[in-house]
Amino acid sequence: MPDISRRAQSLGTENAFVVLAEVNALARQGKDIVSFCIGQPDFPAPENVQEAAIRAIRAGKHGYTPSAGIDELREAAARYLAGMRGGLPIRPEDVVVGAGAKPFIAYAILSTTDYGAGDEVIYPNPGFPIYESQIVANGARPVPLHLREARDFAFDPADLERLITPKTKLLILNYPHNPTGGTLARRDLEAIAAILAKHPRVWVYADEIYSRLSFAAPFFSIAQLPGMLERTIVCDGASKTWAMTGWRIGFACNPTLAPVFTRWITNTESCASQISQWAAVEAINGPQEAAERMRASFLERGELIVRLLNQVPGVSCRKPGGAFYAWPNVTEACARIGAQDSEEFRKRLLNEAGVAVLADIHFGARVPGEGQHLRFSYAASKAAIEQGVSRMADFIKKNTRKAA
Ligand code: PMP
Repeated sequence: MPDISRRAQSLGTENAFVVLAEVNALARQGKDIVSFCIGQPDFPAPENVQEAAIRAIRAGKHGYTPSAGIDELREAAARYLAGMRGGLPIRPEDVVVGAGAKPFIAYAILSTTDYGAGDEVIYPNPGFPIYESQIVANGARPVPLHLREARDFAFDPADLERLITPKTKLLILNYPHNPTGGTLARRDLEAIAAILAKHPRVWVYADEIYSRLSFAAPFFSIAQLPGMLERTIVCDGASKTWAMTGWRIGFACNPTLAPVFTRWITNTESCASQISQWAAVEAINGPQEAAERMRASFLERGELIVRLLNQVPGVSCRKPGGAFYAWPNVTEACARIGAQDSEEFRKRLLNEAGVAVLADIHFGARVPGEGQHLRFSYAASKAAIEQGVSRMADFIKKNTRKAA
C-alpha cells in the first residue's frame, strides 16, 4: 500500500464538522436535539442575491473568470472594504476574490513563510482551528497567543510582544472573534500596531469576516492605523454578512500580495464560481435591508442567550462584542456535575439533555488558568435558544452532586 504523507496525516480539521456528524447520527435515531454547533447564519441568502445568480446563469455568465475575480466584484469589494474601514485607499487591483475567506488563510501563510525554515506564525488561541492546521501543514511553527477572559477575550499586548522573535513572519488577528465573540477595541489595535512598529518584517493577517457583526463598537480595522495598510492582509467576505456560506465568496486585499494570491488561485481553484461572483456584486451593491435585519437579529439573540446563560447554575458568560458566538465559562458547572472537563460536559449535554455545542478544545489547547468553556453559535431561533439553555439548566440541576 503506498504511504500517505506525514503532512496529510497531521492535517487538522474543523471539529464543528465532526460534532455535526455526531448530532446528525443522533437526530437520525429520532433524538430531539437543539443544536448550537454550526457557525453559519440561519437565514437564506437575500432574494436579490439569489436572483442575480439566476440571471448570471441565464445570461451564460458561468465560465472561468480571471483568477483574481471579475473586475465588477473587485471594484465593488474594494469600495466596500474601504467604506467599512474609514475610507482606506484600497484599489480594485489590490483585491483578490477567492472561494470563501478560508482559502486566504493558507495563501497568506504560504506567501509569508517558508517550509521547514523555522518561520513562526502567531495566532489567537482559542481560535478558528484552520489557522493552526494550515500553519503546521505548510511547515511553519505555530505560536499560540492566549486570549484572556478578564479582557473580554482580547489578548494582553505584552503577551504578543514576548512572543515575537526574529523568526516571526506573520501575526493572525481575528475580530470579531470565532469562537469567543470577543473583539479587539481600537485601543487594543493601537497597542498592537505600536509593538509591530518595532518589528517591520512581520505581516498581519486581519481575519475580518465578522466585520459587519461588530456590536460593541463601530467596526475598526488595524489596517486603518498609520503604517499598517501596506503590511496587513485584510480578509472579509460574503459568507456571514449576506448569509452566503455555501456560495463560497471571500476577498482579501493587500497591494503587494494581491498578485501572489492570484497566482496561488491559478494553481488551485482557478477562480471562484462566476455565478457566485455576480451574486456577490449584487450583495454588495444592492439594497442592504436583509443584511441589516440579520445583523439586528443576531444582536437581539446574543443579548437573549447571554442573559439566559448567566442564569444557569455554575455558568458565567461575558457579553460578546460581535459575531454570533457565546463562550460561557462552565468551570463551576463541570465541578457540580462531576464532569472532568468541558469536553465531558459537552458530550453529556448532548447525550443526556439533547443540546449540541462545541467545547473549547475544538478551538486549540485549553489556555492554562482560564478554566473550561463551551461555544454556543446563537445563529438559532429564539425558541431554540430558550429551550436549549433551559435544558442545560435542568441538566445541571438534576446532576448536581450533593456535598458529601
Ligand atoms: N475565518 C473565520 C474566523 C471563520 O469563522 C470562518 C467561517 N466559519 C472563516 C474564516 C471562513 O469563512 P468562509 O466561509 O468565507 O470561507
